[in-house]
Order: sequence, then C-alpha cells, then structure tokens
Amino acid sequence: MRPIPASTTAAAAALLFLNTVRGQAGTEQSEANLKDPNQECAPYSYPPVAAALTQFPPIWEPCAGILPGDSAGQAKFAAMNASVPQIAPKGLLGVPTPNLPYPATDPDCWWTASTCTTPKASGVKPDIAAVPEPKTLGYGFDDGPNCSHNAFYDYLLQKEQKATMFYIGSNTLDWPLQAQRAVADGHEICVHSWSHRSMTAFTNEQVFAELWYTMQAIKLVTGYTPTCWRPPLGDVDDRVRYIAQQLGLDNVLWKTNSNDWEVSSGAATPQQVQANYQALIDMANNGSLATTGTIMLTHELNNYTMQTAIDNYPALAQAFSHIVPVFVAMNKTQLYVETNYTEKTFSQYTSSANSSSGPAAGGSSAGGSGSGSSTSSSGNSTSTSGKAAGASAGVALRPAGALSVMVALALFGALCL
Ligand SMILES: [Zn+2]
Repeated sequence: MRPIPASTTAAAAALLFLNTVRGQAGTEQSEANLKDPNQECAPYSYPPVAAALTQFPPIWEPCAGILPGDSAGQAKFAAMNASVPQIAPKGLLGVPTPNLPYPATDPDCWWTASTCTTPKASGVKPDIAAVPEPKTLGYGFDDGPNCSHNAFYDYLLQKEQKATMFYIGSNTLDWPLQAQRAVADGHEICVHSWSHRSMTAFTNEQVFAELWYTMQAIKLVTGYTPTCWRPPLGDVDDRVRYIAQQLGLDNVLWKTNSNDWEVSSGAATPQQVQANYQALIDMANNGSLATTGTIMLTHELNNYTMQTAIDNYPALAQAFSHIVPVFVAMNKTQLYVETNYTEKTFSQYTSSANSSSGPAAGGSSAGGSGSGSSTSSSGNSTSTSGKAAGASAGVALRPAGALSVMVALALFGALCL
C-alpha cells in the first residue's frame, strides 16, 4: 500500500476531503466515487465484516478445515463427504507435491496435467470452458475485488459492458465495498477460493472450506450467494469438481490465456500478453469462432492487467459479435442462490446491449431495510436491489448515467475546497 501524499495543495486537500467523506467504512457509492488508487487502497473497517470475522478463517491463509462451531458447514460437508470421488490430494494445504507421479491416462481429469474439462467420474458436470454462441466472448476477470479497480469498473460502466468477476474470499472481506460495486454495476460474481492456493492440493474438507467460506463472504457483503466458481490456476480434478458441484457451483475454465497475471512476476512480458490478446482478436476475425464462442483468462489483479483489458476492449468489441458475462452466454438466469435477482438471457442482454438496464431483478427486496432501489434508464424494468436476509448492506443497482453523476459529485467535492 502506498501512503497518501501529504501536501497543502488544494488537490491534496480535495483528496483528504473525499477520504474524510469515505470515513471509516463509507458506502459502495462513496468508494466507487474515488479516483485516486492510493485512496481506493486505503484500508477501512466495514462493521458487518468486522462483526463476523470470527465466523471466517484467517484472511489469506489456506483453509485448514471447517471452523469449530460452524454447524451448518459441518452438516453440509458431512452430507457429501462419503460420495466424493476417491482421489488423493495432490499436495498439502494448497501446496502441490513437486514432481507428483501421475498416469498419462489422466484418470482424475486433472486440468493441470491435461487441460481435461470432461470429467471421468460419474455424476460430475463438465466444465464451462467456452460459451456456445458463435463469435462471442465470455468476458470475465479473476482475483478481485481489487482495491483500485474503480478506473476499470468506470470504463466498463461507460461502455455498458458487464463481466463475470471471480472473487477471492479473502479479498472480499478486505474490500467489501469494492465487491458490492460489482453487484451495483450489474456484473456477475463467482467464487475464486478463499486463499488462492492449488485446490487439488487440499483435503476434501479443506476444498470444501475454501469454497464454503468464500461463498459466505460474498453473501455477507453483497447479499448474494454465488453458484459458480473458477479454480485458481485452473487446478481442478474430479474430486474438487464434485465438492464444488455439491455446493451448487458451476466450474468455469477458459480456452485461451492472456498470461496477464504473469507480467508482475516477470514470467511474461507485456508484448507477449498483447500478442495473446491479438491472437484472440484474430480468432474472432478469421472464422475460428464461427460456430462457438470462447473464454479468455484475464485478471483484475493489478493496474497493469486492468489497463490492458481497457486498452484491448475497443478491438475486442469490434472483432466479436458479442461480449457478454459468462452466465449470460449460458442463459443461466438464476445466478445466485437467492431468487430476488435474475440474470439476463443471452437474447435479453444482446437486444438491450445499449440500454444497460442491469439485471432484470426480481422486483422485490427480500431484506426490507436499508436496500436502495433505482429505476433503469431503459424504462423496461425496475431494478431493485436485492438485499437478502442477513447482515449485508443493500446494494443498489447502478443505472446507466450514474457514472457522470459520480464524476460530477467528485468534482463538486473538490471545488468546494
Ligand atoms: Zn486467480
């Protein structure tokens, strides 16, 4: 984290004013209004999370198991454990065993070894690695919520573009207001594990805990429980798939990899990443996607990965017939366990691509108190925030045009000083 610059200039005073407005916790809106990444990444304490921390594993530590006293988690795990495919963990506490012997026949449908996406164990659903619609990109980003994602999310809002966000449980509790922004902006939220370790290197109970507590974290801060996930590093086999499936999670992988996440470590260069984006654009243009769509692995990991997504968006939008969230492409309208939120079908999304009305919410707010509502700009539905029962704050869906209001408010705040 970088320090907030100390200065007596008017600009710095404006920043401090906004920071004060944000207060100890702020709101989804006040957090979304921030433009300075230093401010965005200043830690804050969010009371609903602070009050619930004992119900979660230590943030960023690999889950050692189901917490004592979590009777719901223990009962859920006990109900599934006996039927989990008999496959040994491929490491210890999320750390893969080096040079693990593994048959070339790929008995576990282990993606890391073979990019297998069609399970071999009976009763396990296939992965979603592409989208069915031709010349369509299933658009998604891993590793969020990133504390400094406002410029990226502002851009997506400006383009009226929704995406699928694969959120890490630990990031979600660190940056709950940023997670709420995904719902407000109409993005889809899926699970990306608690601690971002290799999932096949956990025991059954630890796999369960990595997914379960991320689902609970997202539910706590957004009011919604995801029904989809993506394994970190794509590391999944039939044992892990089965446990996720028993938790109601569809497994999303990808067809092509931007390798954007490897630039920060030096494992990839920006030129290589750009070549990967260009290859995707070429696929859309050369007929390779004439009968089916695709998914590329991209991240909201850091400002480089997000800026690269912004830089490439115009060319992607020109090359592809449609860029849509993954579950819009899959026509999965019940995106969350809670039924007061309805995702658009592919047909609905693409026919209203310029109206940005957000998801066709179910119309009633289940929680009652504290949830805002807003009428969509398209006028064809009232998007009501879905505050489900629980401790989470209501998240108002953000209508098109809100960005300009946010900018105006931020400028107003600066000019007041
Ligand atoms: Zn990841």
